[in-house]
Amino acid sequence: MDNTRLRIAIQKSGRLSKECQKLLKGCGVKLNIREQRLIAHAENMPIDLLLVRDDDIPGLVMDGVVDLGVVGENVLEETLMERKATSEPTDYTELKRLDFGGCRLSLAVADDFDYQGPKSLEGKRIATSYPWLLKRFMDQQGVKFKSVMLNGSVEVAPRAGVADAICDLVSTGATLEANGLVEADVIFRSKAVLIQSGAELSAGKQQIIDKLLPRIQGLQQARE
Ligand code: ATP
Ligand code: ZN
Repeated sequence: MDNTRLRIAIQKSGRLSKECQKLLKGCGVKLNIREQRLIAHAENMPIDLLLVRDDDIPGLVMDGVVDLGVVGENVLEETLMERKATSEPTDYTELKRLDFGGCRLSLAVADDFDYQGPKSLEGKRIATSYPWLLKRFMDQQGVKFKSVMLNGSVEVAPRAGVADAICDLVSTGATLEANGLVEADVIFRSKAVLIQSGAELSAGKQQIIDKLLPRIQGLQQARE
């Protein structure tokens, strides 16, 4: 990879990918994204895109493998706590909170569960992909629980008998409803953010960032 080109990591496919590509396009970056490719080179600017799983983006930024990344605050915060616990690098700066990717991380229980607040979950098993965010919230509430780590199909855990409740991302609530669950408490509100690695940038890369940021600002203002 050419280290004079600005490297930006975005989600390859999922809820953030279309919006990220739209954002870059709106900034005048001409992309030629081919399926199955990890890297896409911009045609008209010294920018390379890395197309990866969203979970890998904070780490790539904090390890300085890429210069910029777009990721949900939920994944960013979770990675941050995990990396701090394992003494891995956590350096980054937030350049901009973006106006897409909105969702909330919520506790949800079966619709026949008598939920009277987080205390109702004392000693219960909670399925989640966000053990650190969940633990932080439950510690603040003074509630002890057992974490059941699941990287997918979290919403079926109560019905499958592997958990008493879940802590998962919600936007409309349709998935919860389809699984006989009700949202009980919101523990974290998230949007996509543009983050930058803590490593010092070359003047050339800094120039591109200085060009991109006001354009992003302008795009967001136009959408308000
Ligand atoms: P990947 O294959 O990249 O790991 P994923 O399945 O983990 O993908 P997506 O479901 O595409 O991730 O969600 C990516 C991000 O989009 C989430 O981390 C969150 O920040 C945001 N998001 C917005 N709305 C929702 C929602 N309703 N459910 C899940 N994520 C949402
Ligand atoms: Zn993911």
